[in-house]
Amino acid sequence: MNEQYDIIIVGSGAGGATLALKLADSGKKILVIERGGYIPVEKENWDSEEVFVKNRYTTNENWLDKKEKPFQPGQHYNVGGNTKLYGAALFRMRENDFNEVRHHGGISPKWPISYTDLKPYYLEAEQLYSVHGKRGVDPTEPFEENPFPFGPLPHEPRIQEVITDLKEFGLHPFPLPIGVNPTNAKKANAPFVLDRFDGYPDPTEHKADAHVNALRKALEYENVTLMTQTKVTKLLTNASGSEIKEVHAECEGRILKLQADLIVLSCGAINSAALLLKSANSQFPNGLSNSSDVVGRHYMFHNNSAMLAISKEENQTKFGKTFGINDYYYGSDDFEFPLGHIQMLGKSDKIQISGDSPIPAPGFTFELLAKHSVDFWMASEDLPDPNNRISIVKQQIKIEYTPNNLEGHKRLKEKLKFALEHSGKFSHYFPKSIYFSKDMPLAAVAHQNGTVRFGNDPKTSALDIHCRSHDIKNLFVVDGSFFVSSSAVNPALTIMAMALRVGDYIKNQVL
Ligand SMILES: Cc1cc2nc3c(=O)[nH]c(=O)nc-3n(C[C@H](O)[C@H](O)[C@H](O)COP(=O)(O)OP(=O)(O)OC[C@H]3O[C@@H](n4cnc5c(N)ncnc54)[C@H](O)[C@@H]3O)c2cc1C
Repeated sequence: MNEQYDIIIVGSGAGGATLALKLADSGKKILVIERGGYIPVEKENWDSEEVFVKNRYTTNENWLDKKEKPFQPGQHYNVGGNTKLYGAALFRMRENDFNEVRHHGGISPKWPISYTDLKPYYLEAEQLYSVHGKRGVDPTEPFEENPFPFGPLPHEPRIQEVITDLKEFGLHPFPLPIGVNPTNAKKANAPFVLDRFDGYPDPTEHKADAHVNALRKALEYENVTLMTQTKVTKLLTNASGSEIKEVHAECEGRILKLQADLIVLSCGAINSAALLLKSANSQFPNGLSNSSDVVGRHYMFHNNSAMLAISKEENQTKFGKTFGINDYYYGSDDFEFPLGHIQMLGKSDKIQISGDSPIPAPGFTFELLAKHSVDFWMASEDLPDPNNRISIVKQQIKIEYTPNNLEGHKRLKEKLKFALEHSGKFSHYFPKSIYFSKDMPLAAVAHQNGTVRFGNDPKTSALDIHCRSHDIKNLFVVDGSFFVSSSAVNPALTIMAMALRVGDYIKNQVL
């Protein structure tokens, strides 16, 4: 089958779906190709055993670690991409994250654009993804004169107690910016309680994800179509290598050959790099758009950890993901380098915790832990290292990754424990591996980024500052790939904002 489009977007997650919506009113014939299907609305959506223990919505694909040992990544192939399962904590990067920052483990490099370049698109993305929050409380928040589209979500009683205690200790907890769709609540004749949110698909569609908030709206335009269960396998260039002339995809055993004036890869940072590398040919043995040799390199995914903090008080919270702490983002009184960011996780139940078995200490049952725990998540910056890379071995994705810049993260954990111990009557702390596999940290690819970096210099970057390939003029890459550094906040809003910026550029300068 041969078909001609104006624009093909490969992938329907944060980058692809947001871009599809931005371009939809151009009238151009746009095809979104998605390798997965729709996540079914079913009772298992909210079943912890199915979601976290049996990995019902995670791919069965095997990737290879640096010793070429196979592992199953926490990767989701479905309409909406990883945002169907995400926690929708939608942060702007800090203004200083766009600058060169000195860390204990080395340098976090400067981005080729500044916060000001992305600022209007951050606001547009916050509006599109119904972000609830409050400006002026987070001590590190970047400047914005407009309020969040919606006020902050209320804290449940136990969470409010923890906040009050932490404030007394001297920290500045702030309402977590969260993407929640408010209008759906109007369809019901009783209030919705947000629960089963972080890490689960949301059948009520309160979670503002790329499928509900962007792709579905894009598909209302006649000129936009979606192919599901269709995996792009190769990009082919013209004779000079200056353009992608054909996209090959597999759908139900058939090979599709598709053409478009513009091709956008939005497969996620790992799969976009993999596709460029897999598309190597005799003219470009190193992969496409890779004259710089950066494609697949500088893989980052944050230094993460999750922690259950246990106190005597019961925690009956349903939706605990309502505050964050950035007091240690740039450093602390005893450490001049950045430590990182702290936020709440969704309240875990005993099944999620038992996934971390064996029982972590005598006297603690899973039930007891679930009843008394408050769930925290901590993220610190990992630094871009060219040797941390995606490559292809016998058609399989291989990830080589050596952790770096760990000292700040170690201190962040200590700071949080100290603050909780001295403020909130907490006594025990246990690591939690919810969606960050304990046995296989490499499998926790949720925050993947950096593998097709953007920049001004074609020798050191694969994309220009509008995410257009330096080498191949009809190719863009719009997903977590373009990041130059990972910052310590969640990546999705930056990916969405960049998709909106690229969309403007394509509409105004390319079409
Ligand atoms: C459990 C979980 C919780 C998270 N929580 C948060 C959070 O609270 N806040 C936050 O900011 N981020 C969070 N994230 C991360 C966030 O979801 C990602 O940063 C974001 O979705 C990445 O966007 P993307 O466009 O790069 O890729 P994705 O959203 O993953 O989209 C890529 C799409 O491309 C498709 N695809 C891949 N290869 C091909 C191919 N060859 N052919 C066709 N289609 C293809 C995939 O199926 C997928 O739909 C979380 C992620 C997970 C898994």
